[in-house]
Amino acid sequence: MEIISSPYDMQQWAGAYRQSGRRLGLVPTMGYLHDGHLSLVRTAREQGRCDAVVMSIYVNPTQFAPHEDLAAYPRDFERDKALAESVGTDVVFYPDNHAMYPPYAQTFVEVTEMTKTMCGRSRPTHFRGVTTVVAKLFHIVQPHVAVFGQKDAQQFFVLRRMVNDLMIPVELIMAPIIREPDGLAMSSRNVYLNPQERKEALCLSQSLAIAKNMFDHHETCAAAIRDAMSRHILKYPTARLDYIALVETERLTDVQTLQKGHLIALAVFIGNTRLIDNIIL
Ligand code: AMP
Repeated sequence: MEIISSPYDMQQWAGAYRQSGRRLGLVPTMGYLHDGHLSLVRTAREQGRCDAVVMSIYVNPTQFAPHEDLAAYPRDFERDKALAESVGTDVVFYPDNHAMYPPYAQTFVEVTEMTKTMCGRSRPTHFRGVTTVVAKLFHIVQPHVAVFGQKDAQQFFVLRRMVNDLMIPVELIMAPIIREPDGLAMSSRNVYLNPQERKEALCLSQSLAIAKNMFDHHETCAAAIRDAMSRHILKYPTARLDYIALVETERLTDVQTLQKGHLIALAVFIGNTRLIDNIIL
């Protein structure tokens, strides 16, 4: 496995690889890898989607607000390297801030509307950071396919909008959410949870199971499902609801009546840790 830190070297490598007629996949991450991240590398390789996988590991400062956990975000590059290699990653792209945001950089990529709802309400600058860094990664790595997790469903749909709007020649793949045995969606931020919070963090996946069960029993009223979910979350003393959204996935607008393909997503503070989870019906 190769480690490349310079965007220029990465571009050269990717250009030569593409020239040889082989297909390149990209898995962007912020590191502190878990099985969710590793599943994305496997998905990239499935069905002959690509011949080589580049995983980027970069904690992107522009997607954190000043009061958020940029400095505290967990990092362990030695461990990440071993894990990336264990699933057959070909190249880890590991740039630093100076390389990704050279002095005087002032160009951002912004998806204007779908980023104002859901996570965008409490994190108004977050998606601008995500779309900017992913656009840079697409130009640096020039992948044929890029794999993202359903865990960050809004991110996926925002990136799909960006790719369509800017006509970027890359195929986006959404990989399923990988969970702990008790249902908690894997996340690098789960390490922030103390034992009590770790138990109460189950309220996210449990409330989604309640929603799914209601829908499977022919309940399609979004308000009724949202009510049942928030009543469940309120039972947990360390939980504070940020939002529950029941939306269609093209523009992320609220729906009144649920149908197959709609997204139910939520964000909950468990103590000081903000967790997200979702299902697509
Ligand atoms: P992050 O390092 O949190 O920025 O995540 C990098 C990529 O991994 C994103 O596409 C996430 O959606 C994806 N991801 C994170 N957690 C999971 C999970 N539990 N299951 C599947 N994909 C995940």
